[in-house]
Amino acid sequence: MIPYGKQCIDEADIQAVVEVLRSDFLTTGPKVAEFEQAVAGFVRAEYGVAVSNGTAALHCAMHAIDIRAGDEVILPPITFAATANCVIYQGGIPVFADVVPETLLIDPEKIDEKITANTKAIIGVDYAGQPCDWDRLKAIADKHNLILIADGCHALGAEYNGRKVGSLADLTVFSFHPVKHITTGEGGMIATGNPMFADKIKRFRNHGIDIDFKHREAHGSWIYQIGDLGYNYRLTDMQCALGIRQLEKLPAFLEKRRSIAQRYDRAFSQVKGVSPLQRSKKVSHAYHLYVVRLTAGIDRRQTFSDLQTAGIGVNVHYIPLHYHPLYKSLFGYDKGDFPCAEKAYEQIISLPIYPEMSDEDVNTVVDTLSECVAFK
Ligand SMILES: *Cc1c(COP(=O)(O)O)cnc(C)c1O
Repeated sequence: MIPYGKQCIDEADIQAVVEVLRSDFLTTGPKVAEFEQAVAGFVRAEYGVAVSNGTAALHCAMHAIDIRAGDEVILPPITFAATANCVIYQGGIPVFADVVPETLLIDPEKIDEKITANTKAIIGVDYAGQPCDWDRLKAIADKHNLILIADGCHALGAEYNGRKVGSLADLTVFSFHPVKHITTGEGGMIATGNPMFADKIKRFRNHGIDIDFKHREAHGSWIYQIGDLGYNYRLTDMQCALGIRQLEKLPAFLEKRRSIAQRYDRAFSQVKGVSPLQRSKKVSHAYHLYVVRLTAGIDRRQTFSDLQTAGIGVNVHYIPLHYHPLYKSLFGYDKGDFPCAEKAYEQIISLPIYPEMSDEDVNTVVDTLSECVAFK
């Protein structure tokens, strides 16, 4: 079976984790700050805060910007559920705005009509690894005094107009799940240029504990205060040690993903009915996913199961969120609300792409998909 995504772990990664196991700190130790600085440096952000997973990172971002009951946050319906759930965790309302059909990125044209007096933020999802049109999102955010959040879980290492994802929004969120660009098993990070956001998130990931050193000196070293409700969203030193090693290999991983995408592009330019999503000239794509639309009357459901049967682990990213009973029942969304997302959903399929994928595997995917669609 060729999976759609897979981690890439070597001996040096394993050794780095083992070393931490033999050291004094398994959590809240030196590897955490080292990993945070390494990721922040890579994405050109002032601050990085490591947390237990990408979903926790999204929750932290919503807390940092003070999302509370009744606040509205605009996001696309084509994304992973966590992008919307983080708003609901804080009592807020996820307000979907439809996507651009060719890219499946949030459509700036569709945002204005969704803005109300309760709108606080926009979450742009850099779907598949292609950054949103961040200049246009910034213009909308500035005009209406909204905060910009980037769900960069697909886009570590991607660039927009030469600027790295991580430095484009007020807060950017990454995931280190095994299918993402680099992994810590489970893990996440918030990148920001705002020291107040970073401090607030550091308290939030640790039960809301506020260690005020002056106060401790005056009143005893056991003293700390809890001002806000927090969670245990910490990432361990074993995970951070793995992340540090993985990050060193990220440029090579990205290069490999881009070269696989290029091979697919070349091959599918000759195959009728298989259309890769469009890419903007402004971006350097990180290719977390390689998504094609099956057009010309090709049956996606049939093609999906033919590929699975042939041992190719294809996937569909994503079922539009407003189709799920949860969001229907909470917010009254229904089929028909977001036509571009809905039409795309009928046609999309994610093909395997990961750093250790061989040229032979790529050829197998190309040949099998070409055969599947040839007789339809
Ligand atoms: C993976 C992912 C997340 C959540 O990350 P976890 O680490 O799995 O919690 C959020 N948003 C998007 C778009 C993702 O792909």
